[in-house]
Amino acid sequence: MVKNFIILGPPGAGKGTQAVKIADSVGVQHLSTGDLLRDAVAKGTELGKKAKDFMNQGLLVPDEVILGMISDKLSGPIAFGWILDGFPRTLEQAEALSMLLKEKEIELDKVILIDVASKILVKRLTGRRVCANCGAIYNVVGMDKNKQKCDKCGGNLFTRDDDKEETVKRRLEVYIKQTAPVIDFYAKSNGLLISVDGSGSIDDITSEIMEGLS
Ligand code: AMP
Repeated sequence: MVKNFIILGPPGAGKGTQAVKIADSVGVQHLSTGDLLRDAVAKGTELGKKAKDFMNQGLLVPDEVILGMISDKLSGPIAFGWILDGFPRTLEQAEALSMLLKEKEIELDKVILIDVASKILVKRLTGRRVCANCGAIYNVVGMDKNKQKCDKCGGNLFTRDDDKEETVKRRLEVYIKQTAPVIDFYAKSNGLLISVDGSGSIDDITSEIMEGLS
């Protein structure tokens, strides 16, 4: 059966980590707008050029750029469904997605919200390191802050430009102002939104999500 999900939550809530685990276990495609944009920036495409400065400043990329990208993705053959990670991030994006899904007669099954307090998020985000080679994500909170190599492939670890402290604070402000209304939008649809506490361990959060989906 086709399953379509959205995962919502503030930056640093662990959306990406959970989305990958859910996509694997349910057998759907993980679609992360952040990953798609970073890939476009790395390749220097037109899309990447439009997005780069907004991303580095911790601001949202304009809706029309994102909507074009996501509409292309959802128009392709996605046989077993998807989990959208990082989209929608504004009320306008949520409304546009609803229209697009209606047009294509696609059902949205669940919206998962991972809830975490801001204090924890700043710590987590500034401690995040990403492997330049395989994309594995680490957190140096409570570990060696100078950790430089990936345990999986030996690649070099780096801090994303948008994980620097000032930018992190701006991303959280942007989330409260522009993305929090998206939660209310989905809360109005009976039984669509499930909320999980994102302060626990990765595995506990996954179990809570899987329980909510079943
Ligand atoms: P993420 O990895 O989801 O935190 O996304 C990284 C950055 O990409 C964000 O801070 C935004 O600049 C941009 N971005 C990702 N998804 C969206 C979206 N749906 N709307 C606008 N900007 C986005």
